[in-house]
Amino acid sequence: RAPRVLRGREESVTDSRSDCLFCKIVTGEVPAEVVREGERTVAFRDINPQAPTHVLIIPREHYRDVVSAGAAEVGILDEIAREAGEIARAEGVAESGYRLVFNTGPAAGQTVFHLHGHLLGGRGLEWPPG
Ligand code: IMP
Repeated sequence: RAPRVLRGREESVTDSRSDCLFCKIVTGEVPAEVVREGERTVAFRDINPQAPTHVLIIPREHYRDVVSAGAAEVGILDEIAREAGEIARAEGVAESGYRLVFNTGPAAGQTVFHLHGHLLGGRGLEWPPG
């Protein structure tokens, strides 16, 4: 399916992309350990966890990164933030603190180009990050 045109320019807004791993997790084509589902979001455990709690929160719709999603002005980032708060409470890391990270672009370590927030917690997290 071709990207739909949004405000006169092409945005990465599609229901699903055949070549996108996280779109396949949304459809169930690729299995994942889902911890929470929202109307517009899915949250699942990272396959290579970097902390005792390491959950990825993604929109069901495809956006390549956090900036693309913000530009689309569809409110999905608010939802991801709300879901993060709920998951942090459920995981028992809300009180101690946690990190919500959006790697953006290859130099920052983004490897999957479907927006995802990393929720990391359950251990001390250093600053600045590596
Ligand atoms: P990025 O490096 O910020 O793009 O994050 C991608 C994350 O997706 C990495 O932390 C990977 O460990 C994680 N990941 C890759 N494939 C899978 C999978 O199939 N299930 C769950 N997590 C995955």
